[in-house]
Amino acid sequence: MVRSNNYALQHKILQAPHHYVTVIKSKYEDNSTPERIEHMPTPTTKDLTLLTPSDLAADFDTDLTTGLTTNAAAKRRQEDGPNQLTAAKKPSLWRQIGHHLSDITSLILLFAVALSAYLALTTDSDWTKTIVIGSIVILNVAIALYQEHSAEKALAALKAMTVQTVTVVREGKTQTIAAADLVRGDLMLLKAGDAVAADARLIHSQDLETDEAVLTGESSAVAKSAAPLTEVPDDLGDAVNRLFSGTAITSGKASAIVTATGMQTELGKIASLLNQTQKQATPLAKRLNALGKRLSLVAILGGALTMLLSMLYHQETLTESLMLGVSLAIAAVPETLPVIVTLSLAHGVQKMAKRHAIIRQVTAVETIGNVNVIASDKTGTLTQNQMTVTHFWPFREALQKVTDQPLSTNQQQFLTYLGLATNARLTKQGEPDIGDATELAIVRLLAHYGLNRDDLETRYPRIAESPFSSDKKTMATLHKTPDGHFLAIIKGAADRIAFSNDHWHEEATAIHDQMTAQALRVLAAGYQQFENDPGADWETQLTAVQPSGLIGLIDPPRPEVPAAIQAAKDAGIITVMITGDHLVTATAIAKDIGILDHGQRAITGHDLSQMSDEALAADILQIRVFARTTPTDKIRIVKAWQQQQAVVAMTGDGVNDAPALKAADAGIAMGITGTDVAKNAADMVLTDDNFATIIDAVAQGRTVYQNILKAVEFLISVNFAQIFTMLIAVLVGWGAIMTPEQLLIVNVLADGIPGFFLSRELAEPGIMRLKPIPKKASIFTSGLGKRVAVRTTTYVGLILGVYALGRFGLSANQPIVGMTMLFLTLAIGSMLDIFPIKTRGRLNRAAFTVNPILTGSLLGTITLILLLATVAPLQQVFRLAPLNLGQWLIVLAVIWLPMLVVEGYKRRQHRDELAAWQQSELIGGAE
Ligand code: ATP
Repeated sequence: MVRSNNYALQHKILQAPHHYVTVIKSKYEDNSTPERIEHMPTPTTKDLTLLTPSDLAADFDTDLTTGLTTNAAAKRRQEDGPNQLTAAKKPSLWRQIGHHLSDITSLILLFAVALSAYLALTTDSDWTKTIVIGSIVILNVAIALYQEHSAEKALAALKAMTVQTVTVVREGKTQTIAAADLVRGDLMLLKAGDAVAADARLIHSQDLETDEAVLTGESSAVAKSAAPLTEVPDDLGDAVNRLFSGTAITSGKASAIVTATGMQTELGKIASLLNQTQKQATPLAKRLNALGKRLSLVAILGGALTMLLSMLYHQETLTESLMLGVSLAIAAVPETLPVIVTLSLAHGVQKMAKRHAIIRQVTAVETIGNVNVIASDKTGTLTQNQMTVTHFWPFREALQKVTDQPLSTNQQQFLTYLGLATNARLTKQGEPDIGDATELAIVRLLAHYGLNRDDLETRYPRIAESPFSSDKKTMATLHKTPDGHFLAIIKGAADRIAFSNDHWHEEATAIHDQMTAQALRVLAAGYQQFENDPGADWETQLTAVQPSGLIGLIDPPRPEVPAAIQAAKDAGIITVMITGDHLVTATAIAKDIGILDHGQRAITGHDLSQMSDEALAADILQIRVFARTTPTDKIRIVKAWQQQQAVVAMTGDGVNDAPALKAADAGIAMGITGTDVAKNAADMVLTDDNFATIIDAVAQGRTVYQNILKAVEFLISVNFAQIFTMLIAVLVGWGAIMTPEQLLIVNVLADGIPGFFLSRELAEPGIMRLKPIPKKASIFTSGLGKRVAVRTTTYVGLILGVYALGRFGLSANQPIVGMTMLFLTLAIGSMLDIFPIKTRGRLNRAAFTVNPILTGSLLGTITLILLLATVAPLQQVFRLAPLNLGQWLIVLAVIWLPMLVVEGYKRRQHRDELAAWQQSELIGGAE
């Protein structure tokens, strides 16, 4: 807690009409009404807004220039703990168990337990059924808990990979620390794009604006300034000299003293509400949940129908009929499917992380697999962001290549001016250089010719700077000249500088075109002299800029990008380039890497601004390059594609990219060059900023989606087969041809356990040759519905036939023999055809070896089934009879039939698709 010794002030705070309204808003809830709560500031806290910086520093025992000492910081870290919001308390184990027991499947099973217990108590039947079904309930819940726990652990480990860092000054040294290590009194340095990691009071600020929507619900930027206030502000929004944890710096820079960390921050005070943010289900998971609910309804209705039929038709007792009804309900519910979905998603997230794509929203795993348009930034994502100046053109001279020739005076002056308007800095060997790639290229050029930025700045001290922005595409600095005058220098995109020279335009255009045609980025530089200090609005006076010259920089494409773009094309995905660079430069690179083909268009941000939304939506299919754009153009591009029903992935790194990242179906932020703001707005963060990583992520996303569909196909058709078989059996008067225990063994063990490992299936050959799945496609499209129907029919016919043969054909009306043969055929047969289901291509040897854990689990469960059918005590428990050799031979012969039918049908159905699935090598390598 902040120490307070100003009682008058404290009194004032207690009197003040505090009425802080807080709005919780998260990416998930963008379309919903934000939740409002009202909360009061801690009344004993001295109001920090009124203090002068030095009083504040005294209060927090820190120094305004050197910050805390390392020891003081360590001591406070120990006293206050890490600067983290305490995670929401996990529900207790009992609550989790309760949650699992309250779902429809468990309720049906629990009803069966109660019913069999009642039967055991009131009739002469024993407790076996109660114990077996009870054990399956426990096993089912235990598996669900375990799998959920491991999925959660995997996701938590991922979270730790995206640690936020903060720049602080400690012991006079500027350093980067983990946000968790920030303590009260730390001197933080902040710039546009940074997320604010703790509450703080500003000490200095320059053109500072923040986005405080998270706390106040105010969506427009809030202008901040360091000056002490004269009155206690009424609410957080008015506390303009304070910064709040969870908000973001949208422009300018600042230094500030940390006043509260962790749960003591304003965000911490409402953290319990933040913790309640609902987990989001993916669209596929939502559709599967809906399917699960419908199946449960079928289960209950089917169960009731069977019960009625058996009572009216066969005059069974109420309890017997009830038990039959329950068995059918059990048969119809795919008990393990929800856990398989969670597992597949978690597995996909982990695999993507290993390949440099960190998923921030689990829903993105699925979305990224379905994208059909990727709108990518050029610099750093498609190109290497390793800029080098290859050419320079001092105005009125010839175009020069960078060589070892010494510079003329004119050339030297040009480079001097360029260097003065640059912020990058070369550091000592071994340490990374500081600055963006364009500017580093400039200071390296200077160094090549023996010029040093520090020397230049001593001669021409900088007195003001107007920083570079992607909107302006220029940067300007104001200097004092050695003779006491003033010199403004501006550098940036040539078309954004107001040059005042009659000859410049014509000459420069020719040189500019020559360089851009070679895919070079071109920067112009110019200057304007002032007799006297032009004052604070000096930049607006830059209307008569004298040209200095042009430079051309090369930024080669990343070597893996052309292949990735081709892979995207094969996968039915269009890649679009969005860049701030010049149209000709962008076009040249786009052609080189395969983005821009014959008949496709490249336009500029200006062209875009001339197009109506309708015209853009109509033309968007042909446009592959958007040059000289500003970040706000990105939103229009996303929306135009979305109007064409596209699923759009959009990359971004800057603060201004955040809205487009949110608007895109999959927002992708750059991990290296990206700002905190962009990362927080994104669904996925690339730790290597590489376009090729997006294509890898698409393959992984598609694999997850396919694996879930495979699990659906594998499990649901057996459920359907069980329902129809039971209904038909009751109708023809055979009664219950499977017991609830047997049904559960098939669903939970025989199919359930191998089914889990479907989530670990690798990407199949050809996964990137499929067309993306449309946004609203049903899960039963692309043949899945038909395959489920064929498999269901096969099982219904086969197991009814086997049952009839066992009961009537081979013995004189022995239901238990029929039941045993049916059980073995269904349990083992439905396991074997996992292979044709999991292999979308032609079944081959690899299908049995690529996912050894699945094959292993299958062998394990087959052994278990055989034990149930052969070990006498187990036979009794599960109502199975010993079979003779002939009966065994029949079972062993027919268990292969479903596999053959599924494989045969698949080959017929997908003659063309199969070829595609076969074409490429396995993606993903071994587990
Ligand atoms: P992309 O959108 O492909 O990632 P980018 O983000 O690098 O490209 P911008 O940074 O907006 O695009 O740059 C656009 C133009 O601004 C460049 O073509 C160049 O003329 C100019 N420019 C870039 N960096 C600077 C800088 N540091 N100072 C002045 N001008 C610059």
